Amino acid sequence: MNLLIMGPPGAGKGTQAETLAQELQITNISTGDMFREAIRQGTEMGKKAKEYMEMGELVPDSVVVGITRERLSQPDCARGFLLDGFPRTVVQAEALEDMLETMGIVLDGVINIAVPREKLLERLTGRRICRNCGASYHLRYNKPEVENKCDACGGELYQRSDDNEVVVNNRLDIYESKTEPLIDYYASRSLLKNINGDQDIEKVLADILASLGK
Ligand code: ADP
Ligand code: AMP
Repeated sequence: MNLLIMGPPGAGKGTQAETLAQELQITNISTGDMFREAIRQGTEMGKKAKEYMEMGELVPDSVVVGITRERLSQPDCARGFLLDGFPRTVVQAEALEDMLETMGIVLDGVINIAVPREKLLERLTGRRICRNCGASYHLRYNKPEVENKCDACGGELYQRSDDNEVVVNNRLDIYESKTEPLIDYYASRSLLKNINGDQDIEKVLADILASLGK
C-alpha cells in the first residue's frame, strides 16, 4: 500500500505514522525527520533547510522534491510507503504525481487528520521528541513511562526548536495558505480519507485502519 498522511502541524501525523507503518508493514518516510537528520549530520542541505525550519517556513519545493524522489527510489519503498509531511504545496503534489507515474507506482489513499486550530498550539508546545528514533510524546497527552526517556528505544527526549508559540503560529498560517488546498486536490482524485484527529490516539488509529478497510 502506498499512502500519504496529511494534516496541520500537531495533528498527530508522526504519532499515527509510526504505528500505522508497522501495522501495514510499509516504509515510514517523514521529510521533516529527513531534514532534522541532515541538520544533525551538518550536511549542506541540512544547513540550507535549517534556516527555513527555524522560522517555520517551508523549505523550497525544488529541495524537498529532490530528496523525496531520491528516497522513494530506494528498495525499501517497494514494499509500500507512508509519506508524512510531503507534499505540502500544490507544486509538490504535482511533482509527486509525475514521479509516481514515472516509477509506475499508484497512490492508494491520502489520510487527512483534522484537528481544530485552537488545540494545536498546546499539542505542539507540549511535544517532546526522541533524539534517537524521532518518536513523538506529549507532556500531558502521551507521556513516556519514564520521564524524559523514549519508551521504544530509551533515547533522551527533547523539545524541537520550532515548537515555540511564535514559530508554531507561523507554521499554522502557512499550513492554511499553502497546504490546506491539497485537501481539495486529493478529494477531486477520490483518494481522501478524512479522519477526526481530536480523539484518543488509539481511536484515531482505529478510524484510519477502518478507512483503509483494515
Ligand atoms: P504531527 O506529526 O502531525 O506534527 P505529532 O504526531 O508529533 O504531530 O503530534 C503532536 C503532539 O500531539 C505530540 O506531542 C503528540 O504526542 C500529541 N498527540 C498526537 N496525537 C494526539 C491525540 N490524538 N490526542 C492528544 N495528543 C496527541
Ligand atoms: P515536520 O517535521 O513535518 O513538522 O516538518 C518540520 C519542518 O521541515 C517544516 O516546518 C518545514 O520547514 C520543513 N519541511 C518538512 N517537509 C516539508 C515539505 N514537504 N515542504 C517544505 N518544507 C518541509
